[in-house]
Amino acid sequence: DVKRDPKIQIARLKLPILGEEQRVMELINENEFLIVAGETGSGKTTQIPQFLYEAGYASTKMIAVTEPRRVATVAMAARVGYELGLSSKEVSYLMRFEGNVGKETKIKFMTDGVLLKEIQSDFLLSKYSVVIIDEAHERSVYTDILLGLLSRIVPLRRKRGSPLRLIIMSATLRIEDFTENTRLFKTPPPVIKIESRQFPVTVHFNKHTYSDYLKEAYKKAVKIHTRLPEGGILIFVTGQQEVHYLVRKLRTSFPYKKNVDYSKLIQKKRPTLTETEQALDSEPEDIESDDDEVEKEMKRMRKARRKMRQKHKELPKINLDDYDMPEDDGQADLVDDNDDQDSEGHLSDSDAEDDTLTAAIKNCRQPLWVLPLYSMLGSSKQARVFQPAPVGARLCVVSTDVAETSLTIPAIKYVVDTGKKKMRVYDHVTGASAWRVVWTSQASAEQRSGRAGRTAPGHAYRLYSSAVFQHDCVEQYPPDICRRPPDHLTLTMKCMGIDKHDCMEQYPPDICRRPPDHLTLTMKCMGIDKQYPPDICRKPPDHLTLTMKCMGIDKVVNFPFPTAPDRMQLRLAEQRLEVLGLLERHQSKAKRSDDEDVLKVTALGRAVSAFPLLPRYGKLLALSHQHALLPYTVALVAALSVPEVMSGKPDSWPATGHLLLLGDPGVLLRAVGAAEHAHLKGEEELFCAKYGLREKAVQEIRKLRKQLSSEIRLCVPNAVTSLGEARVVDDGQARLLRQLVLTALGDQVATKIQLHEVKEGEDKRKYKYAYHCANLEEPVHLHSESILRKVIPEWVVYQELYETGSEERRKMVMRHVT
Ligand code: ADP
Ligand code: MG
Repeated sequence: DVKRDPKIQIARLKLPILGEEQRVMELINENEFLIVAGETGSGKTTQIPQFLYEAGYASTKMIAVTEPRRVATVAMAARVGYELGLSSKEVSYLMRFEGNVGKETKIKFMTDGVLLKEIQSDFLLSKYSVVIIDEAHERSVYTDILLGLLSRIVPLRRKRGSPLRLIIMSATLRIEDFTENTRLFKTPPPVIKIESRQFPVTVHFNKHTYSDYLKEAYKKAVKIHTRLPEGGILIFVTGQQEVHYLVRKLRTSFPYKKNVDYSKLIQKKRPTLTETEQALDSEPEDIESDDDEVEKEMKRMRKARRKMRQKHKELPKINLDDYDMPEDDGQADLVDDNDDQDSEGHLSDSDAEDDTLTAAIKNCRQPLWVLPLYSMLGSSKQARVFQPAPVGARLCVVSTDVAETSLTIPAIKYVVDTGKKKMRVYDHVTGASAWRVVWTSQASAEQRSGRAGRTAPGHAYRLYSSAVFQHDCVEQYPPDICRRPPDHLTLTMKCMGIDKHDCMEQYPPDICRRPPDHLTLTMKCMGIDKQYPPDICRKPPDHLTLTMKCMGIDKVVNFPFPTAPDRMQLRLAEQRLEVLGLLERHQSKAKRSDDEDVLKVTALGRAVSAFPLLPRYGKLLALSHQHALLPYTVALVAALSVPEVMSGKPDSWPATGHLLLLGDPGVLLRAVGAAEHAHLKGEEELFCAKYGLREKAVQEIRKLRKQLSSEIRLCVPNAVTSLGEARVVDDGQARLLRQLVLTALGDQVATKIQLHEVKEGEDKRKYKYAYHCANLEEPVHLHSESILRKVIPEWVVYQELYETGSEERRKMVMRHVT
């Protein structure tokens, strides 16, 4: 008994999916699993929930729809409610920190992280009659895990006599990962392809590829607007700040003034608009007000230190049971959208405009209706992109990649594609991540171009050369789950408590290994284009493992991933996590003798999983909340994540007594602290040159520190992480930090090789700096620039091992030794 507005009904009928309603519903009724593949804009997200609703799927239980992006979660719930003539009480949304779900909710849109979290308390998802996983082609880590879990939950629900349907919706990309993976679905689910009308789009490449792609995008938009026929423009950039920058610039060039009747103006071909400038509707940039914060934190730090000194006249100790648990222990819905990250370097306003462009702008009377679009934009502002531009004005949307497949903007005729996007890249040592601007994949470029041909033939302008497209753009990026170390994920999955459910213990053997060409893609994502680094095999999957364990997924190695990370690496990650005390052994409940023990997450592991780092460094941070040591460990982790901070001049940083306690990380910490001091005084450049610090590295460390700090505050809200005045480490603190480093690197211990152990006839001098370490036959050596060469301690821990020298003079060396 749905009563739709006739206007909506007409609009719906134009969508290709409407013609397939009967077939779609037949397939859903007859199958537990269904894959719906269709071009963006064909009507999957807005229409299929309505089909299900009308077929009665929401009569006793709810219809669930998951989205990997927050922006789509809100927008699509609103749209579906509107089309159905239902209120937001009935068609609702839920995401972390926000939502309007209630008792009357029938159709529930949510971020994938939210549904994952619900599985922790209700494994069978008994509230739902059908789950739609939307945008599955985006392959977010949470979506991938959801698919693995749902492949097991659906048969369980059937056994309980209350069937659950799973619908996977995807753009027409990489469907084989779902259909040809027999660990995921024993028999491939039926696929329904929605053929949509797509008008031809002419793709234009630039002859040259300029690095200032924002300037190029601006110029291209000006040319389109001043020279080409009517039709909306959609510009793809990488992040929120770039969006605002371009929006401002374009609005200034082609202002829209509310009180002017443009339809008449244009007909009468009046000369240029009057100069009555009106305040532009521009959003302010987020400006960090650091000064106050620093001052406050300095006070807090001073107080904490005073207190600590009084309390610990004796040797201070790190208490292994003292750490904050995040209130929300899940990782649900960590905003992984890249739009809210800031970008740097492109925003100089001093572009000298081409004379011709300036003239064109001057002569153009038609305003440009410029709108921003990105994930964190408020929902009322988001909604504006769906409304037609005011009469006489041309629509121009400046967007991040949310407009690639998540949202379809009507009436776009011209696409301007910078070819860039932001991507999280992970440091292989610490697991710290940073946003990098990278080339989009070829698949993304095609998707973006396609946006120009939704309603009529269109044009796509790629602001880079065809050579770049062929050589620098990968065909497709590997799914997120393979790009980050899995340790963290494993721990989180273990936290979900699914070990009660035997179904997780009976997976068929792992048959889908990563294809060999996968590595190449991963490398490209990391920005390494031409060469494999030697440590690829040692890239730790610990993060993923930890996250999954936190979700209660004990047998991470056997989990039915759509695309599985390397199995051997997963096993090693479990071992490391156990040694770190983040997982512990439980005897398997099954009676079978061949069953291995199960590794489950510990309380510490649960706390550590909240930190966006490789778990060993997460542990360092979790424990360093004690004694107000977070500022130092944050700085340390940031410094350890950046390569080659110091050009080999160890003597620039003379060893004082307590620095030696901490060894190389102590030197690093001191250098960072001192550089920070110099930065506040505006003397960073000089300072870096004088003391042999790489200035770029110092800046990178500062950025990472800020990023880490804000992510830590998500799980430990009152954490003090700023260095403030606490730049110099005192004796007691150095001792505590040394204990912390040991808790994090306790599995990477080495002991000095004694001279009497050296075989007869061997050159003893070669063993001056040599150590034994576990699991390795050959000796390892102190780094030639290690400050500890002055001391040569009996016992050390190291951050990383690496190889130097050519074939016959190959040598294993320890980096960052304490
Ligand atoms: P798909 O999920 O297949 O990519 P959608 O269901 O998102 O497609 O979109 C179908 C159509 O609905 C598109 O043409 C889109 O422009 C339109 N649409 C979606 N949301 C809105 C809205 N809030 N206002 C107007 N049109 C909308
Ligand atoms: Mg969609």
